[in-house]
Amino acid sequence: MAGERWRSGLLDASQAGGWAVAHCRQQFLTDSNGVLFPREWLKRQELPVLSEHGIGHFDGDPIYLLELAHPAELDGCFWQGLRQVMLQGDADIFRLLGFASQIGTWAEQHRFCGSCGSRMEQVAGERAMRCPSCEVHHYPRLSPSMIVLVTRGDELLLARSPRFVSGVYSTLAGFVEPGESVEDCVAREVREEVGVEIGNIQYIGSQNWPFPHSLMLGFHAEYRSGEIVPQPGEIEDAQWFSIDALPPLPAPRSIARYLIDLYLARRRGLAEPVLPH
Ligand SMILES: [Zn+2]
Repeated sequence: MAGERWRSGLLDASQAGGWAVAHCRQQFLTDSNGVLFPREWLKRQELPVLSEHGIGHFDGDPIYLLELAHPAELDGCFWQGLRQVMLQGDADIFRLLGFASQIGTWAEQHRFCGSCGSRMEQVAGERAMRCPSCEVHHYPRLSPSMIVLVTRGDELLLARSPRFVSGVYSTLAGFVEPGESVEDCVAREVREEVGVEIGNIQYIGSQNWPFPHSLMLGFHAEYRSGEIVPQPGEIEDAQWFSIDALPPLPAPRSIARYLIDLYLARRRGLAEPVLPH
């Protein structure tokens, strides 16, 4: 979109110049200037590069990704996780790194053909990996998932997964399965995770969620029936919370937080928040 600092694109890696990020398993090489390094300088370092990808432009400058086999040490540098950048970093840099991480993870996991085991090749002029033996093509993977805020008047149904930061409650979420619509998935996941039936399922908006390659489709739904029964192993606790007595909530840039903030704003007649993307 116009006016944005980061714009993804397909760049020819045989061209010289530009800036580069080095990625390995959702971590980025970082020094006191940040995550962008002069590309030619970075390529002269002793790094275990698996592949290189032209990924777009930042402030108009070409940006490349070096996907590494392991997080190598480099003088004056450290490795920074993508989640940390989301929580503390610049929003445009997070968008750049979220894209880079998805391309890097895909390339790293598609070095060999899953059908015949041959080494895959990057396809020129296309974001694709191709098997020279059996012609299978693989494109960057996106996993559709849904996230839903269930409400009952002035109450929000929020839950805790054992993986969450201590004390934080959030909306319910889950991956879409083969054969179902996203709306089917919303009703199924709510039933499985908390044992509640819902209705009036409304699509709100979507957010790319690069952990590692989700596309989050956000919904609002109204409670219909049932008592809360947390799913063993998945849900540590789930409760109805009044809009005036909410627990610690998810990070401000997440769609989970947006769904909650949007409902609160509508309920209180305040200005609606904007979905971060
Ligand atoms: Zn093959």
